[in-house]
Amino acid sequence: SDAQLDLVAATCPDVGTIDQHSVRLIQSHLERMLPASTFFSVFSVNLDKGCPFWQDDAQCVIRECSVCHCDDSEIPPAWLREPHKEKACRDGEACTKQDRLNDVDRSLTGLAALVGQPVWHTADSDAWTIRDEEDDKFFVDLRKNPEQYTGYSGPNARRIWEAVYDENCFTFSQKCRSGICDVDTCKEERVLYTLISGLHASISMHIAKRYLLGERWGVNTSIYRERLRDHPERIANLKLAFAVVLRAVSKASTSLHPDSYPYVTGNKENDDNTQKEVKKLLSFPILQPGCEDKVFDESDMFLEKNEYLLPEFRSGFRNLSMIMDCVGCEKCRLWGKLQFLGLGTALRILFEEETPNLERNELIALFNVFHKLSSSVIWVEKMEALLKRDSRVK
Ligand code: FAD
Repeated sequence: SDAQLDLVAATCPDVGTIDQHSVRLIQSHLERMLPASTFFSVFSVNLDKGCPFWQDDAQCVIRECSVCHCDDSEIPPAWLREPHKEKACRDGEACTKQDRLNDVDRSLTGLAALVGQPVWHTADSDAWTIRDEEDDKFFVDLRKNPEQYTGYSGPNARRIWEAVYDENCFTFSQKCRSGICDVDTCKEERVLYTLISGLHASISMHIAKRYLLGERWGVNTSIYRERLRDHPERIANLKLAFAVVLRAVSKASTSLHPDSYPYVTGNKENDDNTQKEVKKLLSFPILQPGCEDKVFDESDMFLEKNEYLLPEFRSGFRNLSMIMDCVGCEKCRLWGKLQFLGLGTALRILFEEETPNLERNELIALFNVFHKLSSSVIWVEKMEALLKRDSRVK
């Protein structure tokens, strides 16, 4: 309501500490808006690329790991007709498949498999995340494949997280690995670590909030306690990751506004509603000028060091996004790829283009990762209340 919005306007948050009320407003809006919108629910992705760093050691065979693809009838007909026409080139020219292949030095793939070690590519590309080639993508309805407990764990899952946190990923100094950053650690490095740890915390929260308890789905407070509550720095990282995406959304609000990007699927009623809801979201006071740069201030990042640090940061993040093709559970891979694309889009907005020419998939990923992170932040409070209740019952 308007009264609620006024309250948010009156309380501009401090850096990294957004008040719970603002998060709740954003989260409940996205929670309603995204599933109701065909545009934001149908994501195109290639889940069969294979791991470029090591030979797949395991594929999850648990039912919950599999992804349900869209029937053609569920895909906006216009999207079906031009699956290969999405703009994939930054310079706006028609893009060939070869252009995209050049994003990665594929010769490394064989080498990586041979030595069984991650080999990071340093191809000079301006992309924050690695692209799936249009020809190999298929459509997935995110509503039918919710992020939740899948049973994926053990050495394969651990190996992914290890690779993600491994110093090889971070071409900067390695002080942040333990999560305890000293004052000398540069802000750029801390932000990258925080984003990854925050995303990891969010994935753990989604596992905890929808867990298979025998025959039924329910909340698993022990997972929350062990993976988040016992590590307060992970909760702090989750909140900062949310703040980074919030800041990016507000910074790009002109590009995200339906006047700039029409969010078209061809179903007029659904598209009108998506546009109305996006407009409403972007009008929240916390996303308005004057408030949003208090949430996360990137203005002191990549200043004089810009020339070498930004490309290094970008290529580090792109390597991380490539690891997602090694995730041995299809559904986890889907959400991993989507959320890395969403974070990469946020970083592109923050550090490169305030008014970027965003592709459909980038928009879908950005709004969905915004939703996922906001839900996880909200669920910290809910989990705390559940734990309190449980301790009273005992
Ligand atoms: P893990 O979560 O595997 O963590 C490994 C180690 O990383 C921990 O021992 C700890 O030292 C460190 N760590 C943990 N959390 C953090 C943090 N926030 N910040 C810094 N360090 C941390 N499983 C599902 O059930 N559903 C999913 O949708 C799902 N999606 C996944 C997506 C990806 C990209 C990956 C790699 C895995 C996914 N998994 C998913 C698996 C899940 O993340 C865990 O790996 C699995 O549940 C086993 O958990 P664990 O307790 O062994 O610790």
